[in-house]
Amino acid sequence: MIAHSSQGQRLTPLLSLRYAFRSDEFWRDLDHWKDIDAELFLNHLWQEKNAITSVGALGALIKNRISAAFLKDLEEGHRMAPMSIRLTPYILSLIDWDNPYLDPLRRQFLPLASEICVDHPMVKLDPMGEQNDSPAPGLTHRYPDRVLFLATNVCPVYCRYCTRSYAVGLDTDAVTKTKINAPGERWEPALRYIEANASVEDVVISGGDAYRLKARQITEIGERLLDAPHVRRMRFATKGLAVLPMKIQSDHDWTDAISRLSDRARKMHKSIAIHTHFNHPNEITAITAKALGMLYERGVEVRNQAVILKGVNDNPQTMHRLNECLAYLNVRPYYCFQGDMIRGVEALRTSLGDSIALEKSTRGLIAGHNTPHFIVDLPGGGGKRDIHSFDYYDPYLGIAAYRAPAVKKDQVFLYCDPLHTLTADAQALWTNPATRTQLLDDVLKSVK
Ligand code: SF4
Repeated sequence: MIAHSSQGQRLTPLLSLRYAFRSDEFWRDLDHWKDIDAELFLNHLWQEKNAITSVGALGALIKNRISAAFLKDLEEGHRMAPMSIRLTPYILSLIDWDNPYLDPLRRQFLPLASEICVDHPMVKLDPMGEQNDSPAPGLTHRYPDRVLFLATNVCPVYCRYCTRSYAVGLDTDAVTKTKINAPGERWEPALRYIEANASVEDVVISGGDAYRLKARQITEIGERLLDAPHVRRMRFATKGLAVLPMKIQSDHDWTDAISRLSDRARKMHKSIAIHTHFNHPNEITAITAKALGMLYERGVEVRNQAVILKGVNDNPQTMHRLNECLAYLNVRPYYCFQGDMIRGVEALRTSLGDSIALEKSTRGLIAGHNTPHFIVDLPGGGGKRDIHSFDYYDPYLGIAAYRAPAVKKDQVFLYCDPLHTLTADAQALWTNPATRTQLLDDVLKSVK
């Protein structure tokens, strides 16, 4: 039905204006790419070849747009960061370089020393303890019916807050990466383990990022798993759609490989989905809309897993806008994760209380099936819990306790708010080792 106003004017064009995604040649704003035409910019190989992987290269590229103080701040921030730098020209030119301190995309990918907050004493580099449940290289088997297969350790972009900061990307000055993925010839033990375990119905193929797998590798893994009678569902995890959307149009082999798998899975009454990772509406342009439209036409299901990040999407307007844009593009806003307790990125974490308030103010603005579940992925391997389902939460001390009876029956899992969200008195209790031990004992006793 076409909507009309009281004066009888058609409202449809006005409605679609809400989703008039950015379609200008925004990259030409940067001197470095002012002569790059759309044909070249929309080629994924050009994007990969021109990805920025060092502060020096970034500084040279945007020197006319940033101050010397900003560059110094970035150099110092990078020296302390757990993640290396990698930015596609696409995402780099969507950053507002006239206001880089506040830009929500810059905050996701580029660390500044001036933003660093003291780590909570309970943060870790591998907060999920993924390496504790690994029956084969690159495989985590923690829950009876599903496994996580880490097929690569590289991504088209590196996110500062990556839950796998201990393993993904290149070594940084602050972190030497653990090699956990199973590249190429080392996939065999992981694939054999899955084939031999009839309880495994669900496989997440991640890393790293499935965008960095070649088309033949997507086919090899996907076909092999589809042929296992007990494997019913597969999810390919990638942030690529948010940072390199043109790949869907220009890398025919990759898109065809995913489409073929999706078609074959459907014929077998199985399912294949892409789980992607948009955090802010500024990541979505007309290029994204085209890519997602193409996947939708081919029947490839796409779901989104966002992370709640301070100064990026921790306000109701931004979160709502993100979800409605994704829903418009037929991407299901599936999860919104509470930031993991990872070393070196406390500035991006919100308190549980603030995330719960964000959930409450977002729920009801969009249909239930397009409202994401707000989730805490419990440190220590308790799995994903509804953010509201804590057994104990003290906002003053910034500590919550959750149980996961179906996963680890007798264990209690703790999540701590970042110190910068607490009062000076509460912070002092955490930073003193004796009061910290007492505080943790008291919380555990009160929930046991
Ligand atoms: S794309 Fe995913 S795996 Fe890669 S750095 Fe970002 S969060 Fe980590």
